[in-house]
Amino acid sequence: MKILTSPKEAIEFRKTLKGSVGFVPTMGALHEGHLSLIKKAREENDFVIVSIFVNPTQFLPGEDFEKYPRKLEADFEICKRAGVDAVFTPTAKNMYSEDEILIKAPKVKGYILEGFFRPGHFDGVLQVVNKLFNIIRPTRAYFGKKDAQQLYLIKQMTKNFFFDIKIIEGETIREKDGLALSSRNIYLSKDERKRALSISKALKLAAKLSTKIKDTKKLKEEMEKILDVDKLDYIAFVDRDFNYIDKVIPNNTIILIAGYVGNTRLIDNIWI
Ligand code: AMP
Repeated sequence: MKILTSPKEAIEFRKTLKGSVGFVPTMGALHEGHLSLIKKAREENDFVIVSIFVNPTQFLPGEDFEKYPRKLEADFEICKRAGVDAVFTPTAKNMYSEDEILIKAPKVKGYILEGFFRPGHFDGVLQVVNKLFNIIRPTRAYFGKKDAQQLYLIKQMTKNFFFDIKIIEGETIREKDGLALSSRNIYLSKDERKRALSISKALKLAAKLSTKIKDTKKLKEEMEKILDVDKLDYIAFVDRDFNYIDKVIPNNTIILIAGYVGNTRLIDNIWI
């Protein structure tokens, strides 16, 4: 397995590949969620490239950029075992320069929900994914439904900028009890871990009730009854294009939750 540490090296490596390339961008501290995307990429492509880059521009001041888990050696091992051809681990210095041309997330859908509570977050995400797409030039790029709004915006950017890349979505991988896997789960204490479970439980409850109750306000009330978070950022109902909806549309609804358990901000969603 190749370790590529600079964009230049990665571009040169890419030129040597004849066949389809599956690409899985990550921030590392790999878990089964990432692995499911890597496995999918392995099945569907001749070559698989994983990037590991804790991208500074998508963190807001005061967020967890410095303390975000970094486990490069363990990540390499996971990738090797999964049959990854190359891991791209650039530094911020060789990815960014001074006074750059910037990508701006769309004014509405880039600034609601996650974009409202983390203004500018998606500008940073799209900036780095744009760079990564140009460096790796993948045939297919893999993103998790866990980050539903991110997935939507990346699809949008791919269309708007005419990237010849197929965006493939992966199902959210969960612990046995339902907690969505996240690199940030390691921040949770035992008690917080227990209370974090109320997020996936509330989503499951809403999904179940939604076969009878379509009114999203009513569903939200039921979810709030069982949610045990310290600060709720939002419960939201959107269609697959991230338009807010008042009534559940079968097969075209995403229910999203974001909130803090202790100091840890968690997000989760369910597609119904
Ligand atoms: P991250 O390292 O958190 O930036 O995530 C890298 C990719 O893995 C993104 O496309 C995420 O949506 C995806 N991902 C993160 N957690 C999960 C999960 N529990 N299940 C499936 N995909 C995930």
